[in-house]
Amino acid sequence: MSANLHRALDAAIPMLKTIRQGVKTPPKASSAALEKLRQLARAIPPAPQPAQVPQPAEKSAPALELEPAGGWTMDSLRTAVIACERCPHLVASRTQVVFGVGNPEADLVFVGEAPGADEDEQGEPFVGLAGQLQTKIILAMGFQREDVFIANVLKCRPDMPSGVSGNRKPKPAEMATCLPWLSEQIALVKPRAIVALGAVAAEGLLGLTSPLRDLRGRWHEFQGVPVMVTYHPAYLLRNQSLSEKRKVWEDMLLVLEKLGKKITAKQRAFFTAPA
Ligand code: SF4
Repeated sequence: MSANLHRALDAAIPMLKTIRQGVKTPPKASSAALEKLRQLARAIPPAPQPAQVPQPAEKSAPALELEPAGGWTMDSLRTAVIACERCPHLVASRTQVVFGVGNPEADLVFVGEAPGADEDEQGEPFVGLAGQLQTKIILAMGFQREDVFIANVLKCRPDMPSGVSGNRKPKPAEMATCLPWLSEQIALVKPRAIVALGAVAAEGLLGLTSPLRDLRGRWHEFQGVPVMVTYHPAYLLRNQSLSEKRKVWEDMLLVLEKLGKKITAKQRAFFTAPA
């Protein structure tokens, strides 16, 4: 209790006593006491108001690309991916986003790791030397390039230090950031099989880090779709031995079987050593 309040009560006590004794007209001293009480009451600071409880700021969702109300179409997805700026360092260095090409209803999807310099320049995956070899493999399987869908895990070329030429492998974090786009592409295409080209693509798509020799030749799965992992065509350009080409081809024969495609005797004999 404050000192002011004590003083106010002390001054009021005589008046209260007078009232209790039935005195109808308060003594002069009571009027003075009342005035004193009023003065002291005015001097008592107002009771502090309860502290303002800060209200939580309204949370606003981070500005991510939102799926359209009716779901993605390949066109709306392409528009969103081409405008994507989730990786500022890649946005700063890319010439363009490499969305992917091919049949949007393909039975077969090929997945690479990331655009290289040629792809970054032309806006299409697998157009460099390795891409040309991959196209030959697709033709040997009995498809046209337009029959299949081709995309990378990472849609923007990995940046290179200033003045350094060549390409670098995408980092796992970069691939993880971009993977939702590939996931949406695969959900739209609904292929019956996927081929992951190289260990980096296998890591980006499946999260598997085993050596490629342990991953190839057997089926994995992504979003319920069977995935065959095989060597990247760039590996075959570096290692042109018949045995390595044969390994890739055996993987492609498994893919053709999975798709229910008729395999010719000539196809079965590709890259087998002469008797
Ligand atoms: S790499 Fe993928 S996630 Fe990153 S900016 Fe390019 S499109 Fe967007």
